Formats: sequence, structure tokens, C-alpha cells
Amino acid sequence: MFDRLSSLVIALTLVAIAAIFATLSGGDALSIAIMLLAGFIAAATVYSALPTALPDAHGAALSPAEALPLSLLRHPDFAHWVDQEKEPLIGTADNIVTIANDAAIRLLGRHIVGADIRTAIRHPAATDWLSRIDENAALEAVDLVDYPRPGQRWTMRIAALSGSERIIFLSDRSAIDAADRMRSDFVANASHELRTPLAAILGYVETLQEMNGEADAPTRDRFLSIIEREAGRMQQLVIDLLSISRVEADRFRRPTTAVDLTATVRTTIAQLRDSEQARAKDIVAELGDDPLVILGDEAQLKQLAHNIIFNAMKYGYADTPVTVELVREGKRVRLSVRDEGDGIAPDHLPRLTERFYRVDEARSRSVGGTGLGLAIVKHISERHQGQLDIQSEVGKGTHVSVTFPLAIAS
Ligand code: ADP
Repeated sequence: MFDRLSSLVIALTLVAIAAIFATLSGGDALSIAIMLLAGFIAAATVYSALPTALPDAHGAALSPAEALPLSLLRHPDFAHWVDQEKEPLIGTADNIVTIANDAAIRLLGRHIVGADIRTAIRHPAATDWLSRIDENAALEAVDLVDYPRPGQRWTMRIAALSGSERIIFLSDRSAIDAADRMRSDFVANASHELRTPLAAILGYVETLQEMNGEADAPTRDRFLSIIEREAGRMQQLVIDLLSISRVEADRFRRPTTAVDLTATVRTTIAQLRDSEQARAKDIVAELGDDPLVILGDEAQLKQLAHNIIFNAMKYGYADTPVTVELVREGKRVRLSVRDEGDGIAPDHLPRLTERFYRVDEARSRSVGGTGLGLAIVKHISERHQGQLDIQSEVGKGTHVSVTFPLAIAS
């Protein structure tokens, strides 16, 4: 309310007025002298306890309230904004951390507040930039490679405020890098998968040409059937690649058409039985007669059922049953497929839905697998809010199931 000097003047004036009244009302000299002394001591004590004004950037005196807006980092609104930021954000003054949000504390530890930022972010590129950046520094991103652990990458941006204050933004790029790596791995894998049958086709065609019509009929037939098989492998791969890209493109579009899963699975089984697959005779369908309606994309649901049932036919032992079941479970429906076969060791289970992941590459190739079947199943299942579950016992067999929410779940 009053500044320091005005408060002292008012206090002394009050003491003097009190002394005048005491004299006028006949007070004795000793009491008046003691009262004056006590009044002066009280005023001096209060004066010395009052805070002194802060100098501003130009040396002029400012009260503490006036000094606050000078510092963005100390502004209460700034602290609020910093706390709402999901990415690590740090404020520094003279390279000392004055403010750090939750994300920064999670990444660097609580001890960073009050510490030198160059020791808080222990990375040579960060230390270098933090040591030389000046007030005019642009918001240029600095790459922190292998930070905080090998294989990870963060970027750091610095905004220089007035004076020695800075705001430091950290951003995790590891997930973006991993997605880029996955994309280039996928292209490399797909090219490799196509190149192998293509090389075989070219090799046999060349050999037939070199034989110049001299190859006997059995040799020619053998070569031609290899060419046909390899071309079929390429065709299946291209079909699966197109499927996976289509399913991925539809990922965020929820299906809205009512589809009867009972009829869809029944049609898929009929198509497999019509094919010339030797194992088709082993399919045991336990579907029931009731329609089980879900919101779905019929073609994709057929593909999902086909891939799971066909895997059981491919990897189950010959002449053992492949049991396909549809069961209503409350507000969901479960499609499950069981086989009796070699099964899958537990450490492979989490990776089965990765593109091109195979437990036994030679076995998969020999049965015409592309390594994309379960990746397609996973994407279709996710699009339909399904839950995929794979359980297996080595030497006994595998149980793959997907549950979907029913459209009318009364
Ligand atoms: P593929 O085209 O090779 O069959 P998938 O993506 O369908 O590719 O399956 C990935 C791998 O999972 C297969 O290569 C196989 O090793 C394993 N797998 C899938 N289903 C079964 C099953 N029912 N029994 C045993 N192994 C299976």
C-alpha cells in the first residue's frame, strides 16, 4: 500500500502527535520521553523489516510486484501452460533450470530443477549448443542421436528469451524413426520375397531355351511345373501385398454394414472345400444355425476366416481335424479355429502378426505361405474392434480365435 519511506514518515508523525497530546494533557516529562523513544524504536524496526525495491534491467528501482512480468518463466500462466505440455519443456536462467514440466522430470529426473542444464541433458550435441547459443538463436532443432539410450533419438529446440532466459523443448523422434525403419524393411522384404521366385522362373526359362527343344518331355514338364509353382507364389505374394495395403488404408474407417458372421464363415469353408486342398476334408464346422450379426466388411471378414482356417490346414498334421467354431459370448461373438500339429513355441507368439515373420521359413514356403497371413488378420481384426488371441502348445496344436462385438448385443 505505502512504500518504505512513506511508512516511516507516517509512523514518526503518529509518534510526534501522541507526544504533543501527552504534553497538552499534563503528562510528566519522563513518561513522554520513554513513549517517544519506544515509538522511534518501533518505527525503525518496522522500516528495516520492509523489503527493499528490486532494480530493473536499466538499474531503476522496481517493487517485487512490478518486477514479475519481466520474467516469462516466473509468470503463473507460464507455469500452467508448461504443465499442460505433453512433451518435455524446461525453462532456464543463466543455464540453471528454473522450471521443468512433468514430462521433463520423467525423462531427466526431479533433481534437474536448480541444476545446470548442460549436466541435466547429458549429450555432447546438447552441451555444445547450450554453451554457444545467443539471444538471436533461431528455433533450429538439434538432433540428440542415441539419446537417452542407444537406438533412440530426441530433438532439442531452444527459444532464447530476453536476458539469460531460455525455453528448451525436447521431442521424442524414436517412434517416427521406428516407423520409417519398418517401412523400409517392408519394402526390402517384399522385394526379396519377389526376387526369389522370379530368379527361379528366369533360370528355368533360360535352361529350356538353351536346350533348344532337345529337352525330353518329362524334363520339360518338370521345369514347367516349377515355373508354374514359382509364378503362383509370386501371384499369391502380390495378392497379399495388395490386401495388406488396402486393409491398412481402411484402418480408420469403421465398417457400417451389418454382416452375418455365421453365413460368412460358412461360405468361406465351402470355398475351401471346393478348392483342391487335400486337407479341406478335415474341416469340422461347428457354427450353429443362428445368425450372428456384426458391423463389418464382408470381403475382409472372409479373408480373415480364410487365413486362420488355411493356416490350421497348412500347419496341422495330415488327417487331423481342423475345428472351426462360432460361439456367442455375451455381447461378443468368438470365431475359433483349432488344429492338431507341431504348435508354436511361446517366444514366437508375440511376433506372429509381424509382416513376413515366420517360425520356420522353409516350412512356410513349402506350403505356399507368404508370411503375411496373420498380419492381414491382425489389421482386419483391429478394424472390426476384434481381439485376436493365439494359444499354442508345442507338439499338440494351435488355437487361434478372434472376438467381435455383436451389432445387436441385447
Ligand atoms: P504364412 O504365410 O507363412 O503362413 P502367416 O502370417 O499366416 O504366414 O503365419 C506366420 C507364421 O506363423 C507361419 O509362418 C507359421 O510359422 C506360424 N503359424 C501360423 N499359424 C500356425 C498354426 N496354426 N500352427 C503352427 N504355426 C502357425
